[in-house]
Amino acid sequence: MFDTLSDRLSGIFTKLRGKGRLTEADIDATAREIRLALLEADVALPVVRSFVAALKERARGAEVSQALNPAQQIIKIVHEELINVLGGEARRLQFAKQPPTVIMLAGLQGSGKTTLAGKLAKWLKGQGHQPMLVAADLQRPNAVNQLQVLGGRAGVEVFAPEPGNGVGDPVAVAKESIEYARRHMRDIVIVDTAGRLGIDQEMMAQAASIRDAVTPDEVIFVIDAMVGQDAVATAEAFRDGVGITGVVLSKLDGDARGGAALSVRHVTGQPILFASTGEKLEDFDVFHPDRMASRILGMGDVLTLIEQAEAAFDADQKEKMTSKLLGGEQFTLEDFLDQLIAIRRMGPIANMLKMMPGMNQMKGQLDDLDDKHFDRVTAIIRSMTPAERANPKIINGSRRARIATGSGVTVMDVNQLLNRFTDAQKMMKQMGGMMGLPGGGRRKA
Ligand code: GDP
Repeated sequence: MFDTLSDRLSGIFTKLRGKGRLTEADIDATAREIRLALLEADVALPVVRSFVAALKERARGAEVSQALNPAQQIIKIVHEELINVLGGEARRLQFAKQPPTVIMLAGLQGSGKTTLAGKLAKWLKGQGHQPMLVAADLQRPNAVNQLQVLGGRAGVEVFAPEPGNGVGDPVAVAKESIEYARRHMRDIVIVDTAGRLGIDQEMMAQAASIRDAVTPDEVIFVIDAMVGQDAVATAEAFRDGVGITGVVLSKLDGDARGGAALSVRHVTGQPILFASTGEKLEDFDVFHPDRMASRILGMGDVLTLIEQAEAAFDADQKEKMTSKLLGGEQFTLEDFLDQLIAIRRMGPIANMLKMMPGMNQMKGQLDDLDDKHFDRVTAIIRSMTPAERANPKIINGSRRARIATGSGVTVMDVNQLLNRFTDAQKMMKQMGGMMGLPGGGRRKA
């Protein structure tokens, strides 16, 4: 599955290996190649465009992590953008408040609808539901029979028009089935509808009539992942003609290039709920965008490595900060600012305090550090010269006035910050001493 795309992407990443830094030209070249790879995989043009635009912006942006090398940075961004394009978080089925929940299946003939009906029924039964299948595909000669066979295998009842009752009206069958489900305590009704080889008015009108008759909680569009670009037009037609709430990708076990899978979410605006990966009833699973993205990249190991590198980098930063903190004497306003920024980035201050040895004692100092206060303190320190930050003792009255004007606060605010900083510095020196660190509290040579 998606082999060509995976190969192309890994070739692109390989070229970035060994580079020390991503230049503008690297980013442009990489973006161009990724654009080509996506187009070759038959991904719809608007999807390719927004993917590449996001990639470029993020690769240039400040978010780029110091923990990763250029190849890893690009892989991380591509991975995250693939997850985005596939829909982000997995979305569960929506159930009706009042059973039965009605799930209607729509799609072209041969897309795998009837097979999916059986798979879904079996899966739902496994989850403790009492599903029922409804044969509202009265177009295809063998469809009712096929559904009955699948229902038999899944151990799920199939509601179908009596044989010999003529051709039957699928809308009437669907409507009756809901009544039947209510009477027989079935909590989920899965309605299989007719498909055609191509989209036509009559088929769309019939699907819309069935929809109106059963008021489904989900209208699931089944799309054959092997179809590629054409699938996009079909998806749009179903979105506009019937209105869909979710998508199932079928035949992902084949040599799909990826186009349909990567386009359908963007084109329909609806999430991919399940993936079908074979002819057997078990070949079916909930769709997880993140897992699919990792499979497309085909580099589980590298992705783990990236996560670990980032975690290790964060830990290293924390460690550096702690030893600086405990170094009392060397602790400058510059460090104070770094520390504030780091604290802010790491989340609620209370959590941060818990992570740092001995920091509980500083709680008083940091308690009133809400966002507004944080911004003020940051502005004040940023208005100081490097010399002032390194040695706050030189900050006399006129310097205080200048800093206050520069940061848009009062001289009193500046005084308050400096007092608090001096207290913090003293306390850290004491803490360093208490913890028996050599050299007035320096932990590292
Ligand atoms: P429908 O016309 O939409 O109801 O499609 P069917 O459910 O009859 O499926 C059409 C053909 O595709 C059948 O031969 C199925 O066995 C096959 N099929 C359905 N889903 C999958 C799948 O996920 N993988 C593979 N390889 N074949 C599938």
